[in-house]
Amino acid sequence: MNVHDSERMAGMLEDAGYVPAEGDQADIVVFNTCAVRENADNKLYGNLGILAPVKAANPGMQIAVGGCLAQKDRETILKKAPWVDAVFGTHNVGALPALLDRARHNNEAQLEILESLDVFPSTLPTKRDSVYAGWVSISVGCNNTCTFCIVPALRGKEKDRRPGDILAEIQALVDDGAIEVTLLGQNVNSYGVEFGDRQAFSKLLRACGDIEGLERVRFTSPHPAAFTDDVIDAMAETPNVMPQLHMPLQSGSDSILRAMKRSYRSAKFLGILDKVRDRIPHAAISTDIIVGFPGETEEDFQATLDVVEKSRFATAFTFQYSKRPGTPAADLPDQLPKAVVQERFERLTALQDRIAAEENRKQLGRRVEVMVTAQSGRKAEETHRLSGRSRDQRLVHFSVPGGAEEPRPGDLVTVTITEAGAFHLIADPAPDEYSLRRSRAGDAWDRSQADSCGVPAPGTNGRKGVSLGMPSLPVRAS
Ligand code: SF4
Repeated sequence: MNVHDSERMAGMLEDAGYVPAEGDQADIVVFNTCAVRENADNKLYGNLGILAPVKAANPGMQIAVGGCLAQKDRETILKKAPWVDAVFGTHNVGALPALLDRARHNNEAQLEILESLDVFPSTLPTKRDSVYAGWVSISVGCNNTCTFCIVPALRGKEKDRRPGDILAEIQALVDDGAIEVTLLGQNVNSYGVEFGDRQAFSKLLRACGDIEGLERVRFTSPHPAAFTDDVIDAMAETPNVMPQLHMPLQSGSDSILRAMKRSYRSAKFLGILDKVRDRIPHAAISTDIIVGFPGETEEDFQATLDVVEKSRFATAFTFQYSKRPGTPAADLPDQLPKAVVQERFERLTALQDRIAAEENRKQLGRRVEVMVTAQSGRKAEETHRLSGRSRDQRLVHFSVPGGAEEPRPGDLVTVTITEAGAFHLIADPAPDEYSLRRSRAGDAWDRSQADSCGVPAPGTNGRKGVSLGMPSLPVRAS
């Protein structure tokens, strides 16, 4: 969600006439902050501190801070870092260019935080980080009250976008060359709650299936409590919905789930996985897990290990519980000592790493279709491999056999998997095991390179670093 918000901020600034900075010195620096993880505030104020002398040496420079931490800290940011020019919240991303103008004109810092959304952010101009795949928001905010989570306090109640607006945005992306979209929401499968249609999400998935040229549809994240069979049916029966599901478990202990105010239990979670695998046998399932929630006993933790063992996740994003001020869990008694949490975390990651490696080994010898991405990662570049994502979202590093045509980012190659690690697959195919399908997305990549007058750098296969300073998908989940 934050990455997509960054795309909107960049889009609005470009719309207002700003251009990406070249070299070391930018005239404007925007921090889009996240408050989910611990230390977000230390990091922000640390970074602002580093910029203070830079700004002093470049008086025209402007600094803006937006996102969840800005929504939470508000005027504190200007008190702690008075050299900041603009502070805006999660509900008024669209105000960024106006706040920068006003700060410049009035020669005074501007603070503007709204308590709720006035414009659905997807109506704002967006500079997308990729031409071949795009995020599409279907809702923002969340009506749940998970006790560890700051999202409801900072992003507000769920607001659903109209299906017609969503489909029009997807169509526009596809018309521009994208072949993959990821539907985004804090709680995608409660989509429709605002306009009273409980099956709205499955209908949306099926409607995506009717969009000509859209080859890959993903979504993140569904909530197990709201996961209904019509969604599983829609996933199984809509060919361009990918065989992949990311569904947060958080804990395998029912008493901890109760304390987290997560209204499903582990049996329900495992039941959903069974149904998904029954309808979509090769679905890769990933999850999020929190270790060390207040009051978690060794028995509770063991229950999490048991569910992880049974679930056979392809990937798990595992987190050590950390207090988020402003959340109910921060005030619970029985906060666990760091050493206990660390030890459990290590046991959990060891188990999950073993399972991930075992699941990936099942891919050996399989033919997989990979959509080539622009970034390969250091190791893949050292070995002259390109990278991409399989239909089930596994990371695949592959080599192009001698004499074969090289793909462009956005093109689709089909290769045979020859090696498997816990966090990636490798394909070094023989010439007859490699096939390339040049796609509209690859054409769009070519156009984007020509538009930006990009001269392909040697050894990059025409791939040019395009970054809005945002994190890329992690190669290794930890
Ligand atoms: S469902 Fe997700 S976003 Fe909503 S409160 Fe729970 S963890 Fe936070």
